[in-house]
Amino acid sequence: TIGMVAMDAEGNLSGACTTSGMAYKLHGRVGDSPIIGAGLYVDNEVGAATATGVGEEVIRVVGSFLVVELMRQGYSPEAACKEAVMRIVQKKPAKAKEIQIGFLALNKKGEHGAFCLQPGFSYAVKNADTEKVVKGKFYFT
Ligand code: ASP
Repeated sequence: TIGMVAMDAEGNLSGACTTSGMAYKLHGRVGDSPIIGAGLYVDNEVGAATATGVGEEVIRVVGSFLVVELMRQGYSPEAACKEAVMRIVQKKPAKAKEIQIGFLALNKKGEHGAFCLQPGFSYAVKNADTEKVVKGKFYFT
């Protein structure tokens, strides 16, 4: 998945995501990416989030909606992403090592963060004076 979350000059939030889906997927499978709340969710009063990885797991916890709701409760973007990842781990602790999942989030203050299960997830940040790649934190080492 390529997921994007953005804030404009007036502080309005938006997001988008696109995917090629999973390899060897069943014909007709619908992943998380086209489902609002799962692969992407934006609430202009709170924040925006997007997901990548095994869509079935993201859908099960309504992952991007969960991340935004956690930010509404005061979680930082990274902490909200981590909590959503941990929900997935808690549902399938024995299988968690095989699951690829990552969340990316941006809040209304312009703070961003990400968290994923496996190492190797990074995201790009671009604003008026910055252009950088940030390594996402991860659970398994
Ligand atoms: N989230 C996508 C899906 O499950 C896969 C991906 O592109 O990360 O369809």
